[in-house]
Amino acid sequence: MLLKTKHINLKTELPGPKSMALIKRKEENVPRGPFNTSPAFIEKGEGALITDIDGNTLIDLAGAIGSLNTGHCPPTVVKAVQEQVEKYIHPCFHVAMYEPYIELAEKLNAITPGNFKKKTFFLNSGAEAVENAVKIARKYTGRRAIVSFERGYHGRTSMTMALTSKVKPYKNGFGPFPSDTYKVRHPYYYRKPKGMTDDQLDDYLLKQLNDFFLGEVPPEDIAAFILEPIQGEGGFIVPSKRFVQGVREICREHGILFISDEVQTGFGRTGKMFASEHFDIDPDLITMSKSIAAGLPISAVTGKAEIMEAPNPGEIGGTYGGSPLGCVAALEVIKLLEEQNLISRANEIGTLIKNRFKEMRKKTNVIGDIRGLGAMTAMEIVKDRDSKDPDKVLTGKIIAECNRRGVVILGAGLYGNVIRTLCPLVITDDQLNEALDVIDQVIEDVVKEQ
Ligand code: PMP
Repeated sequence: MLLKTKHINLKTELPGPKSMALIKRKEENVPRGPFNTSPAFIEKGEGALITDIDGNTLIDLAGAIGSLNTGHCPPTVVKAVQEQVEKYIHPCFHVAMYEPYIELAEKLNAITPGNFKKKTFFLNSGAEAVENAVKIARKYTGRRAIVSFERGYHGRTSMTMALTSKVKPYKNGFGPFPSDTYKVRHPYYYRKPKGMTDDQLDDYLLKQLNDFFLGEVPPEDIAAFILEPIQGEGGFIVPSKRFVQGVREICREHGILFISDEVQTGFGRTGKMFASEHFDIDPDLITMSKSIAAGLPISAVTGKAEIMEAPNPGEIGGTYGGSPLGCVAALEVIKLLEEQNLISRANEIGTLIKNRFKEMRKKTNVIGDIRGLGAMTAMEIVKDRDSKDPDKVLTGKIIAECNRRGVVILGAGLYGNVIRTLCPLVITDDQLNEALDVIDQVIEDVVKEQ
């Protein structure tokens, strides 16, 4: 027995012998492109716990990169999927229609922000939802340009790569990219110029949009701005209400659509059903995926009915879009979020994590900023708090060591120096504290080793 605490139970080094054997087969048969954070192969997932094929139990703070707000294998979701599989697996909505698709569309139209008539359709992945939101925005407005924000992440397909920041690993060598995409600045308060207040930074960046319209693309050529209400891959950067509302207002003024990319922030993660609610905005289009269906691959675009009606029959869709399994899973996920108060639980989790991170910061100079909303909380690792120089190498070591000691966790950030938590919202305080104890100890050990 290598380590046994209340929940983490490491019977072997990670990866254990069975995982090692599979890693060997993986290396022979799978390209190195798809990355892996934990070295373990999973046997079973339950709530916030993973058991690997060597019998090790790990605490999951990554939740399939934010896809498991309701945890691994919530029983009601498992049951709904099992019952669905018995009836029909995939008739394809374009061929033979089915009720769960309609029911989920009705539900998303009702629970997404915006007090207007909405319509929804379904796809497979987050990137595919963004691709389709872009198509719809262009078709509706008859305009060519799409504007995204620096440090934003929207996917790995051709269009979404173009909208995404961070050259390595997301864009390097994959050009040329689709034309008519543009990027504008986004506030990063922790790294703002000395002497500037947050409000001044917001106002400066909003004002710069006028120059952008003069210098890069006129507003009448812009179909949409796409914004993550909180930047996910970009490092859990929370813009102010002033900034987000300012962008929304500029869009309204120029007939530009506002797309809120809630792929990572949706379904309770930030302490609201959708993070857009924190900013009191009503997006024209919302993209969703990840935690929508407890891990089943489905995504959605919801938007103002008039906008969603722009494409003609056959112009949007796809064979697997809105699979019945994803639809019935999503309906159960939404029920769970609503009935088990998981959305307010996200706030409790966020407070617990932030308080523990603050305690850790008192002991070391390498934890810079601590930020986030609800259970979307992160810490930034720096060389020291005065210089704020990002420390990507140290961050990598901390993440690797946490994963080795039984806490599955992910990095993020343009500089690769952010440690983020996307734990299932069903995690118990006990499990969470245990995982945070490991992080605390790992930081202490890894810093000492430097
Ligand atoms: N948008 C955002 C905000 C995301 O976080 C992600 C995934 N990290 C995507 C889009 C792309 O989703 P997918 O990986 O399902 O294509």
